[in-house]
Amino acid sequence: VRPAPFSYTAPETVEEAVAALADAGPDAKALAGGQSLLAMMNFRVARPSLLVDLRRIPELTGISAGHDSVRVGAMTTHAEAEYSELLLASMPVVRRAVTLIGHPAIRNRGTVGGSLAHADPAAEWPVVALTLGARMRCENNQGSRWIDSDRFFEDYFETALGPEELITDVEIPIPRRYTGWSVQEFARQSGAFAIVLVVAVVRVGDDGRIEDLEICVGGCGGAPVRLESARTKLVGERPTDRVLEQAARDLIDDLAPRSDVHATSEDRVAIARALVKRALTEAGAARSFGGPNGGGADEV
Ligand SMILES: Cc1cc2nc3c(=O)[nH]c(=O)nc-3n(C[C@H](O)[C@H](O)[C@H](O)COP(=O)(O)OP(=O)(O)OC[C@H]3O[C@@H](n4cnc5c(N)ncnc54)[C@H](O)[C@@H]3O)c2cc1C
Repeated sequence: VRPAPFSYTAPETVEEAVAALADAGPDAKALAGGQSLLAMMNFRVARPSLLVDLRRIPELTGISAGHDSVRVGAMTTHAEAEYSELLLASMPVVRRAVTLIGHPAIRNRGTVGGSLAHADPAAEWPVVALTLGARMRCENNQGSRWIDSDRFFEDYFETALGPEELITDVEIPIPRRYTGWSVQEFARQSGAFAIVLVVAVVRVGDDGRIEDLEICVGGCGGAPVRLESARTKLVGERPTDRVLEQAARDLIDDLAPRSDVHATSEDRVAIARALVKRALTEAGAARSFGGPNGGGADEV
């Protein structure tokens, strides 16, 4: 299997990259880590006329702290995120999710921007971005704009990005103090894509009641799904076993996954129900652990 013929350029600035994409038109593609795109080219599922390699652009790299958020450059590799002290200290939920991406060889090359732009419905970064309310800075030769996660992911491998637009940065809000978290994944084997993936963040107040929460599911639709009714159902409740069991049943009413070669729709719903309950339990219990515990407490 060999790719169809293509041209190649490796610009050194974002300005040059977006100019190259605009000049070549919609058949050109950005190349990041190549972990998804090159395989698609080898199978001729993708036949770009031009590859615009982003690996020589320093502006697209780095992880830095803002006032109440962290900025992650689009060309940051999964491995750089995995070993970032800043992300570990401010949002360990990201670190945990990233460790579930493929194997080290894939994490060494695959990038945050590539994963978000590729928008595989079972990928970790899109579900984490939606759960934490991240937004993407996107740029073309006309200028730049921010796209919120809940408008970014549209369907299977489809996003709000224009064909000549690049993701340059991702801005992730730092979860508030005493926010517990959980990442739950069901996959056939270690390193495989998730069949179902659930990410939850839950803040429990001094009175032991849930003050706020967000819970999102991957692998159960074309785009990651935010369980919209979770807030209404659970804010003000104590995260007891009975309440969470009932919530897990009710919340998965929002899901309508397709059957495919990996799992039937019914299996995905059953797995999601179990993982949602587990995620809410772990994230909701974090406060009672009294601090960072590696299993769910995000105390910033
Ligand atoms: C064996 C294997 C197992 C994997 N397992 C997992 C897994 O468990 N979980 C998971 O989440 N992922 C997994 N992946 C995918 C991996 O995370 C990829 O790194 C990711 O999907 C694509 O990132 P990339 O940097 O390699 O992008 P590329 O392959 O270079 O590009 C992918 C697409 O994104 C576009 N693109 C890239 N960067 C930008 C940008 N900055 N702006 C706009 N468009 C851009 C490209 O044009 C292309 O269309 C796996 C991959 C392999 C090969």
